[in-house]
Amino acid sequence: MSLANGRSHLAIPGPSIMPDRVLQAMHQPAPNIYEGALVELTAGLVPDLKWVAGTEHHVAMYISNGHGVWEAALANTVAPGEKVLVPSCGRFGHGWAEFATRMGIEVELIDFGKRAPMDLEVVGRALEADKDHKIKAVLATHVDTSSSVLNDIPALRKLIDDLGHPAMLWADCVASMGCDRFEMDAWGVDLAITASQKGLMTPPGMAFIFFSPKAQAAREGMKMVSPHWDWNARAFPQMFYEFFGGTAPTHHLFALREALNMMREEGLESIWKRHDVLARALWAAADVWGQDGPMELNIADPACRSRAVTSLRLESPNATALRDWVSANAGVTLGIGLGMVEMGDPAWHGFFRVGHMGHLNAHGMMGVIGVMEAGLQALQIPHTGGAVAAAAGVIAKG
Ligand SMILES: *Cc1c(COP(=O)(O)O)cnc(C)c1O
Repeated sequence: MSLANGRSHLAIPGPSIMPDRVLQAMHQPAPNIYEGALVELTAGLVPDLKWVAGTEHHVAMYISNGHGVWEAALANTVAPGEKVLVPSCGRFGHGWAEFATRMGIEVELIDFGKRAPMDLEVVGRALEADKDHKIKAVLATHVDTSSSVLNDIPALRKLIDDLGHPAMLWADCVASMGCDRFEMDAWGVDLAITASQKGLMTPPGMAFIFFSPKAQAAREGMKMVSPHWDWNARAFPQMFYEFFGGTAPTHHLFALREALNMMREEGLESIWKRHDVLARALWAAADVWGQDGPMELNIADPACRSRAVTSLRLESPNATALRDWVSANAGVTLGIGLGMVEMGDPAWHGFFRVGHMGHLNAHGMMGVIGVMEAGLQALQIPHTGGAVAAAAGVIAKG
């Protein structure tokens, strides 16, 4: 007997759950890529993607994952020898910084650890120290998917403006877009990146750069941009093939079209609110479990937590044991801890994450919380019971 039989549930922070409508949209024969429906469909994605990002400006689409657009953003606007500032709050800021370093770009990395957002006073001091304005861009991670921290992007914009520093403001929104509130133009972000497989509910394999006129001016100032990453043809195509610099990702486009239809039907405010309520249900449960025992939310201050992903601590080896238990006995896959300690360190088995991004509703979230409580009981991991009721209370209030 296994209680895991039935429809499985993926609660990892990307790829996220794919809606049936998205899966069905892909179930069709290979289309004509020279004219007709696919060409129109692709052009129609542009305004809807910009709507999700909150921008009137430009978008370039790539056959890529998030790592690819990390590189593409740099390749289009920052030359070797130029400088960027990277405030990092987990694994992902470090990753973007490493890409820049390997591209010959000078990187000033500020490490804010794994449990806190960036400290704007510290970022401000780094910008103030940059008297000749060598820093061309500040590479912020909106949500760091390893720590699950949420950074205050509007406050960072205000800081840069108050100091009169001309640096561009960039935001890595791979985890957050379509989950946590993000408004590119209203927040004064010059460049934002995301990928298809998290809040956008589409298979991994497409990624996007949104860029402002200021970022485009930086692009025009570049002596050389590698042809595949160059966003000019992609964002301003004369011919259909230029959108993707070659064959279009046909079935990803069908999938993305349907996902964006679903997002339009729901509306961004409702999407953000749904993620907020579901995330708070999980946090309420974790607070109860942790009253007695090792369960702990990685980010203490709720104002600094993402609504897309939650990182938790459960003392090794309990986190791995709980992940294994809910997978084997309940059909739920929880995320591994990322970037807290090295893999291979025995402490690694004390960290895990719950993805709650994209196509998730109240019964999905309550199901995850319920089976986590069952796992804690079955494994006799010390905890306070009754967390499911606490989560239900959050859902009830909405
Ligand atoms: C997932 C993620 C990435 C990397 O995306 P891939 O598609 O895995 O390459 C980058 N940044 C953040 C914040 C992410 O969540």
